Amino acid sequence: MSQTLQAVRGMNDVLPDEAEIWETFEELVRDWLQRYGYRPLRTPVVEPTALFSRAIGEVTDIVEKEMYSFADALNGEKLTLRPEGTASCVRAAIQHKLVEGAGPQRLWYQGPMFRHERPQRGRYRQFHQIGVEALGFAGPDIDAEHIIMTAALWDDLGLEDVRLELNSLGAGEERAQHRAALVTYLEAHQDKLDEDSQRRLHANPLRILDSKNPALQDIVEAAPKLADYLGAESRAHFDGVQVLLKDAGIPYRINHRLVRGLDYYNRTVFEWVTDRLGAQGTVCGGGRYDGLVEQLGGKSLPAAGFAMGVERLLALWRESVGEMAPGELEIYVVHQGAAAQRLAFQVAEALRRDSLSVVVHCGGGSFKAQMKKADGSGALLALVIGEDEAAANEVGIKPLRLEGAQQQRVSLAALAETIENILYNDDDNDEGAGHGGV
Ligand code: ATP
Ligand code: MG
Repeated sequence: MSQTLQAVRGMNDVLPDEAEIWETFEELVRDWLQRYGYRPLRTPVVEPTALFSRAIGEVTDIVEKEMYSFADALNGEKLTLRPEGTASCVRAAIQHKLVEGAGPQRLWYQGPMFRHERPQRGRYRQFHQIGVEALGFAGPDIDAEHIIMTAALWDDLGLEDVRLELNSLGAGEERAQHRAALVTYLEAHQDKLDEDSQRRLHANPLRILDSKNPALQDIVEAAPKLADYLGAESRAHFDGVQVLLKDAGIPYRINHRLVRGLDYYNRTVFEWVTDRLGAQGTVCGGGRYDGLVEQLGGKSLPAAGFAMGVERLLALWRESVGEMAPGELEIYVVHQGAAAQRLAFQVAEALRRDSLSVVVHCGGGSFKAQMKKADGSGALLALVIGEDEAAANEVGIKPLRLEGAQQQRVSLAALAETIENILYNDDDNDEGAGHGGV
C-alpha cells in the first residue's frame, strides 16, 4: 500500500462542522461590511514577488523569512503566495485606476494568506484574513471609522475581552528624527541586545521596540518614544482619532511600543488584543499607510486599513458563545422501488425550489436502514415513499424531532403546504423554525 498523504504542515482542512461555523461568521461579516458601505474586491492568491518586497519592506519578518516564493517552472517568473492583502488591493486599485475613476474607495477582501512561520496555536502557514482598505482618505475620520466598525463587529459577535491598543507612528521627517535618536540610544546598549535586535539595529530599529524578549524589556521601555517626536499636524491627526473614539465610547490604551510588523504604516496604528488566546492574542491590526500607493507606482494617495485573523477570531467567538448548533437539514427522503425512487427525486426537486433543504437517500437498503440514516442526518422530517405511496401519488410524512407533530400521508398537491405548516407555522413547533447557525 502506498503511504497516505497529509496536508502541508501548518495548513488546515476545515471540516464540515467547523466550516459551517465559518460560513455563519462570514455571513455576519458580509452584513457588517455592507452596513458600513464597504465593497468587495477579489485579487489573485499569487502575485509577483516584487510586490511584497516593495510594499512590506525588505527588512521585515514576512519578507525576510516567511514568504512562500518560487520561480514559475515554465517561464522563471518570480512569484509569491500572498502573505497579506493590502499590497494586492493597492496594486489592483492602481492597475485599474479605481480611485481616479470613481473617487475614494471603501474596499474589503477575504481569503487565505500564506506565511512560513512555526505552526502553533493561533499561528498557521495558511491562515485567513478579512481586511478593509479605504483608499483616498486623508483625515483621522476614516482611521476612527475603522476602529469603531471593528468594535461594532465584536459587539455583533458578542466578543468580550478584546482591548484596543493605539499609537501614532508620525510622518516621514518625524519618524526619521525618532529613528536617529532610537539608534543612538540602542547603540549605547548594544552589548545587551539579542541577535535579532543587533541585526535590526540599523536596518529596522523600530521593530526592536516590539521585541518580546524579556531580557530587553527594560531597555525598550526606556527608549525614545515616537510620541515625543510628533509634529503639530501628526498630533492633531492623532487627537482627531481619539475624539471620535471617545464619542463612540471605545476605551483604548496608548501603547508607545506598538509599531506593527510592516514598513508601510504611518500615523495611526492600532491592534485589538485578547488574553484569552495565549501568546497569539492579536485578532486584528491596522492603520494608516499614506506612502504605499506611491511606493507601488501609483499617484500619491492617502489610505488606511486593517486586517483580522479569522482563525483567531473564530477561536475567540467559540469561547464566548459556547456550543454551536450544526447546520440543520430539513428533510430526508426514504424510498423503496423504482417508481418510488423516481417520485422521490421529483418531490425533492420541487421542495428545494421552495428553498427547503432536502437529502434523497442514495444507495438503497431496507426501509429500516434508511430510516436510521434519516434519523442520523439530523433532518426534522422524513418523507416516506413506498410502492403504495408511489402508486397513489402520495407521500408519507414522519416527523423525526418535532414534538407533537403527527405522522401523516398526504397527496402530492398538499405536500408543500403541509410541510410548511409542520415546520414553520405550528406554534407548538417553534424549535423547528431555525435555519442552522449559532
Ligand atoms: P503576529 O504579531 O501575530 O505575527 P502580524 O502583525 O504578523 O501578527 P498582521 O500582518 O497584522 O499580523 O495580520 C493581521 C492579523 O492576521 C493578525 O492580527 C492575526 O490575527 C492574523 N495572523 C497573522 N499571521 C497569522 C498566522 N500565521 N496564523 C494565523 N493568523 C495570523
Ligand atoms: Mg507575524
